[in-house]
Amino acid sequence: MKIRHKITLWIVGTGILTSLAFSLVVFLEMREQPLQILDSQLNLTCDAVAKEVSKNPDFLEAQKFNRTIIVQGSRYWLKIYDPILQPIYQSELSRIVDIPLLSNKRNRAYTFDAHLLNNDVNHGEKEEIAFRVLVVEFQVENNTYLIQLASSMEKIDEEISELLRALGFGLALSAAILFCIGYFMAGQILKPISAINSLILKINEKTLSQRIPLGKSRDEIFELSTHLNNMLDRLEFSFAQQKQYLADASHELKSPIAMLRLFFEDAAQHSDLPEVWQNKLVGLQRNLLRLDRLVKTLLALSALEVNESLNVENFCLTELILSVLEDFAPLLQKTNIHLETDIPQNIYLQGDKDKIRRVFINIFDNAIKYNFNGGEIRFNIYDDGKSVKLSLYNTGPGIPYADREKVFEAFYRVEKSRSTHYGGAGLGLSIVKKIVNLHRGVVSIESELGEWTRVDITFPLT
Ligand code: ATP
Ligand code: MG
Repeated sequence: MKIRHKITLWIVGTGILTSLAFSLVVFLEMREQPLQILDSQLNLTCDAVAKEVSKNPDFLEAQKFNRTIIVQGSRYWLKIYDPILQPIYQSELSRIVDIPLLSNKRNRAYTFDAHLLNNDVNHGEKEEIAFRVLVVEFQVENNTYLIQLASSMEKIDEEISELLRALGFGLALSAAILFCIGYFMAGQILKPISAINSLILKINEKTLSQRIPLGKSRDEIFELSTHLNNMLDRLEFSFAQQKQYLADASHELKSPIAMLRLFFEDAAQHSDLPEVWQNKLVGLQRNLLRLDRLVKTLLALSALEVNESLNVENFCLTELILSVLEDFAPLLQKTNIHLETDIPQNIYLQGDKDKIRRVFINIFDNAIKYNFNGGEIRFNIYDDGKSVKLSLYNTGPGIPYADREKVFEAFYRVEKSRSTHYGGAGLGLSIVKKIVNLHRGVVSIESELGEWTRVDITFPLT
């Protein structure tokens, strides 16, 4: 679950809980109030009835039973009992609603679910109506009479259910509002983190100099950005140091190797040396040559790492390739490899001529090295107006499918024995890819294991 959703849920959850607690208090309060009002109305009405009856004691005589006591409106349920608890008066309502006289409920109002008398509309299921009932005693000429007064709570119940509906609607509305606000707020809070995230995704070894912009407020995001920037500083420094170290080391190795090579060439001139030593010298000279090549490739690679700038010029690609092929001619002859080319005249390219020459030297070197004796090489160039496509095909042991991307990594060799046999260090193709990419081109390898390999390079013309 995303943090934005979690924050939103927390806000909505907390909001709903608070609203629920608030609604509960409001509900209880609002439920009590109409009851209190009703109770005091019942009390007042009982007093009024008691006063009216006390003023006209003859009212209590049986023959006056049919007189009507005017209590406010006809909504009250009223019964008056004589000292032996026989009803001596009852209102219209009390004839259709049954509320028994309970002996233990005096002077305090209570709620009672009353049934309608003679109600057979619902086939035995008696309809219940809630009544608030008050029973009070009053004295007339030293006799104790009872007034039982009740009022329907239908209206109050209606009001309460209306209140419940309103509270429910209010809760749903506040949850919806809280959701919108929470979602928006979480988005605002997390905005800087998303920005940091997308920037960090863009930073790689080539764009290590980029930094996360620091906001104005000194909050946790500011701290996080500062720490990430410090980490990037350290990374950039150690990357640069590593590159410099590689450049320095290979540069320092160059002169001693050159001196050793001179020494061995000189020593090889001395024919008076015993044959065993002469053979050893030849072997050592071969190893030294391999070391010399490795150091030179490392130097080229580190020079590329340190200096990625291009010395761009418009040059004739056809001429450059023909001159590289000329250099390789003796080697092709020696290995009996048949070369077939399709190179159009006057193809021009914008780029760093020296670096592109290195690309062709590396791929031709591979095409000859990893070929069969008496094998074949086919090279062609195609210019479609937008880009120059070059393709170099050679017969040979090929490259396994799984290694086709890895051969572009520095020091990666398919079979260690294969490359060391040819003196390879596994750097050639990584240099090729670097140079091609610097020219915004693409390089890829296709191969059939044990049959052939094809290197395709595309340089954009603009
Ligand atoms: P270096 O080029 O540094 O002297 P290398 O030739 O071993 O050494 P790369 O040119 O990077 O290194 O090639 C990487 C590996 O890819 C090689 O070891 C080889 O196994 C394989 N490879 C490259 N080109 C070909 C090819 N044309 N045919 C078959 N295998 C190849
Ligand atoms: Mg190579």
